[in-house]
Amino acid sequence: MATTQVSIHHHIKNLKNENFIGQEQAKQATSIILDLIKEKKFNNKGLLIQGQPSTGKTALAYGMTKELGANIPFIKLVGSEFYSKEVKPTELLMMNLRRGIIIRMKELKEVYEGEVIELQPEESNNTVGQDIQGYGKSLSHVVITLKAAKGTKTLRLDPTIYDSIVKEKIAIGDVIYIEANTGIVKRCGRSDSFATEFDLELEEYVPLPKGEVYKKREIIQDLTLHDLDMANVKPSSNGNDIISMMSNLQANKKTEITDKLRQEVDKVVHKYISNNQAELIPGVLFIDEAHMLNLEMFTYINKILELDLAPLIILATNKQGLNTINGTEDIVSPFGIPQDLLDRCLIIKTKPYNVKELESIISKRAQSMNLKINPSAMQKLCQIGDESSKKRGLRYALQLLSPCSILMEISGRDEIIREDVEQCMDLFLDLDRSVEILKTNTQGFL
Ligand code: ADP
Repeated sequence: MATTQVSIHHHIKNLKNENFIGQEQAKQATSIILDLIKEKKFNNKGLLIQGQPSTGKTALAYGMTKELGANIPFIKLVGSEFYSKEVKPTELLMMNLRRGIIIRMKELKEVYEGEVIELQPEESNNTVGQDIQGYGKSLSHVVITLKAAKGTKTLRLDPTIYDSIVKEKIAIGDVIYIEANTGIVKRCGRSDSFATEFDLELEEYVPLPKGEVYKKREIIQDLTLHDLDMANVKPSSNGNDIISMMSNLQANKKTEITDKLRQEVDKVVHKYISNNQAELIPGVLFIDEAHMLNLEMFTYINKILELDLAPLIILATNKQGLNTINGTEDIVSPFGIPQDLLDRCLIIKTKPYNVKELESIISKRAQSMNLKINPSAMQKLCQIGDESSKKRGLRYALQLLSPCSILMEISGRDEIIREDVEQCMDLFLDLDRSVEILKTNTQGFL
């Protein structure tokens, strides 16, 4: 299935990041394209990245997405996915196209905002009120005291809010806001004043909110068009504002996303845009192994490129030269992609890495994983990285690091040695399950 997260690339935050090594020409080309996009001069155009497997095509596309802004969706599809029997190819494309577009709502809302300095569920003496899950007691109120720069405020809240507080894992010292009208509770992060006390790297620290606890504040909410489609197929009761704004559609009780439902969603979205209450933000739809698509899908992509608003389409292929277009007997085109689509695309090439670059990529990755690799193991990993057959190559070399680190730990060493690499290569041709297997079967490897 399509994914919005590509965890293996998450260390590549953006293209300027020193962690993205080499590929200078490709990086230069993408930075020009990014400028064009920002100046809105790349409308109705696509991008094709051509290069051998593991030469950073996906990483480049992901890096571009990060450059476009925070929270911009990166949707990855693979050409071969389109041949599943469950979903029609054009439906798969349309669904992911809509996952790649964000509707950003900005609303001025009345909120209580501050650092939690008291959080007290109050039990009730009678059976009226909300049952606290697993406790067999009922709540009559939740008492929360919030502190902002100008004063504190104690709120006695309805017990139903307790569920959201538990869900958001809110604790004393967190900065939160509660929407006055809906009771929606959001955790913003940990208050700055706790930053020295708990030095948790993953924690996000936020300053004590300015002004009074009770105020009007601009709340930004991002949802994708696909989220809205789904919300109207499966009516939701979570009180989410944007979703409930569509409640007029929910009356129809649709059971699947149809073109008609999408049109209705679009109508409401456009109303919000023309009232300046929302804006649409395109993300990136990345299609790997694009040469696997057939004429029908290519035609559909061409149509997407004609839309006023579409995600940036980035195709990737490792095909070179003239190839027969999939599903046709004798239509030949560069990369196996029809000429009319290529005419709309700028083409970037990624080059295979030399050994020095491979070493640099592998050691950066090891560094980010806090791993030491001895020279002989590094030499072996670079050798693997240099073999561009499907089962080998840089991706495989990088994937070996996790299982190698487990063998290293089991042997009580603090660096990966060549034997770890060789043993892991023998064990794992398919690395997806490797770490899992090693973790559950460590005895067998002792
Ligand atoms: P492709 O899409 O061309 O098959 P990927 O982008 O998936 O290749 O790269 C394979 C692996 O190598 C990924 O883990 C990726 O993050 C890493 N990688 C590729 N190129 C670089 C680079 N220039 N710098 C750092 N890591 C890279």
